[in-house]
Amino acid sequence: MSLRGKTILLAGLALPLVIYGLLQLSNARTFQIFGRIISSVPTDDRVVALTFDDGPSAAHTQEVLSILREHEVKATFFVIGQEAAGNLQEAKRIVADGHEMGNHSFSHPRLIFKTPGSIRDEIERTDAVIRSAGFKDEIFFRPPYGKKLFILPWYLARTGRTTITWEVEPESHPEVASDAQKIADHVLDRVKPGSIVLLHVMYKNREESRKALPIIIDRLREQGYKFLSVSELLRRAKA
Ligand SMILES: [Zn+2]
Repeated sequence: MSLRGKTILLAGLALPLVIYGLLQLSNARTFQIFGRIISSVPTDDRVVALTFDDGPSAAHTQEVLSILREHEVKATFFVIGQEAAGNLQEAKRIVADGHEMGNHSFSHPRLIFKTPGSIRDEIERTDAVIRSAGFKDEIFFRPPYGKKLFILPWYLARTGRTTITWEVEPESHPEVASDAQKIADHVLDRVKPGSIVLLHVMYKNREESRKALPIIIDRLREQGYKFLSVSELLRRAKA
């Protein structure tokens, strides 16, 4: 075989590996190339953070806030910038109720293979909306679909932002997501001290997740768990 032929053969063999590696890297919950990424916190205390992605929606924010208020739970909402701008009253209510608000991008794209400028816009415009909703503390970032490769982590690190992923994600399993009791069971089976739990409660099709929420809260509390915002959870980390 000619040298050129061998080179092409090697490249052909290596390419799937490279693509596989990038895919693994883009999906990793606990690792990124630059900056700080947190999927859970090392602690012996029975503490957990409930996090809600997407929205806020006009239809379901009030309902979710009522459940949290009734159960005296503080949570963290990773909002989509354009939805928070369109439903600013709901965003303000979330902040006014004392919950934490994080950045989940402006338009919820996969932030891989994007220009630095578009990544910056997705992040900065959303932070601006979060500030206009009245949130004054540190704003964490959660990538849409958990996807990140090089430029996003680089930008987040350069601007001193922490990436927050999650450890428990019941709705990623369709057979679990369709049943409130199964969602709660999944969470209860997997939560450990310091876990970050991901739920989606803002849209019409997530009724089972909203129904699971009070069950999750009651059952974790029976086990002695306290509910913290992400920033409170980070402060509990063992040195
Ligand atoms: Zn999302």
